[in-house]
Amino acid sequence: MNIRKAYNFIKKSEIGREISDLKNLFLSCAVVMIAVFVAYAVVMAEAQAPESASDLENPVDTLPVSQDMAASADKKSEREEMLLKADKLSRGHFYDEALEILRSLPAIEPPDPDEGFVKAKIDVIERAKASLIKYSGPIHHVFFHSLIIYPELAFDKKRGSSPEGYNMWMTTVSEFKKMLPLLRDGNYILYNLTDFIESDDLKPEKVKLKDIILPPGKIPLVISIDDVSYYEYMKLDGFATRLVVSDDGRVYTQVTTPEGETELTRDGDVMPILDDFVDENPEFSWRGAKGTIALTGFQGALGYRIWSKNTDEENAIATAQAKIVADALKSNGWLFACHSYGHSAFFRDGSMTLAKLKADTEKWKKTIEPVTGETNLYISPYGVSMIFNPNAYSKYLVQSGFNVLCHVGERKEIYHHGSYIAMPRLDLDGFKMIKGKRAISKYYFDPDIVLDPARPPMK
Ligand SMILES: [Zn+2]
Repeated sequence: MNIRKAYNFIKKSEIGREISDLKNLFLSCAVVMIAVFVAYAVVMAEAQAPESASDLENPVDTLPVSQDMAASADKKSEREEMLLKADKLSRGHFYDEALEILRSLPAIEPPDPDEGFVKAKIDVIERAKASLIKYSGPIHHVFFHSLIIYPELAFDKKRGSSPEGYNMWMTTVSEFKKMLPLLRDGNYILYNLTDFIESDDLKPEKVKLKDIILPPGKIPLVISIDDVSYYEYMKLDGFATRLVVSDDGRVYTQVTTPEGETELTRDGDVMPILDDFVDENPEFSWRGAKGTIALTGFQGALGYRIWSKNTDEENAIATAQAKIVADALKSNGWLFACHSYGHSAFFRDGSMTLAKLKADTEKWKKTIEPVTGETNLYISPYGVSMIFNPNAYSKYLVQSGFNVLCHVGERKEIYHHGSYIAMPRLDLDGFKMIKGKRAISKYYFDPDIVLDPARPPMK
């Protein structure tokens, strides 16, 4: 047996395996010991090392100073944010709310060099608040339907389902956008339709006219928008198809472009356009007032179909979806009104009866009130007056909770009827801008500078 053979014999034998096991054990112990030593060295080094350069110089004072600086920077930016908020609130006539913020600004060291500016700002707001006066001029209420986004579709005689009707009773996006700065510059200020009356403590069955208190020179303006159902027949005619709350919590218009693309926009109807305008021009709204949306019910609301073609479950989903939009609008200053359930011909053809009005109103309350919540505003279809019809109609509406009734008319006053008021509204649409110019130019603007050149001639 030579040496190699002997080595191989030992390796394969029991003794060889034991020798090999011993070798592995030794190697394992060595590795563990090295690891323990390295870990010990690291821990000791960390325990002795200073955390930062400042610990070496002055371990007591330096760290709190840097916290102070951070806190001071925080306070400064908090202060700046509060100043911006107060500024916007005061511009929107939320005087007390702005003053409260300005008086609770966090103090900073060294004192803000703007301190004098803050005092002056408080002074200006207090004077604005003290200057408010009772308004006693004409009452202005103008209304629209959903806006035409694509005139080339709406007015296309071959394609649009009602080009002549749209030309008369609708307003285009470009026209509406032009009107807003003109109304603002004419000293109009958006005012809530619910703010003209208050309850009468002495006579619970009556309402009292409420004082209108505004900055001197300002004229209250109510805006309402009718239908806002985005009816089926309008689908391909260049209007929005529904309102949608996006991730940012704001209400957008869902629009189908002429190319067939679906997109969410901020300018597909009165609501987002007015919201953005007031955001940039808070002075134009009295304490956050926007407009009143007058909903029918026979095709649901706000573009969500709640109707007999659906199962109960589908209607429940549509109701919940529409409510999300309505809630977002309400929290942003919008109000809702009943515009009847069926927009039925009986309102204007003389065939209305109390029973028909009751059935229609009850249907609206059952279908649309779950979306909007209760409302005391009734905006009649076709602009008919419910006061000049038999008393029984207005009496029934008042019993049903509606004490502000709006019809269409050019007078600029409120009719106070004890338990309710009636208020006429003026349409700012194609018909009025072309055929009734004076009713608009006398108060608001010259329709010729607003009219969309895409409108066809009107018969
Ligand atoms: Zn209508």
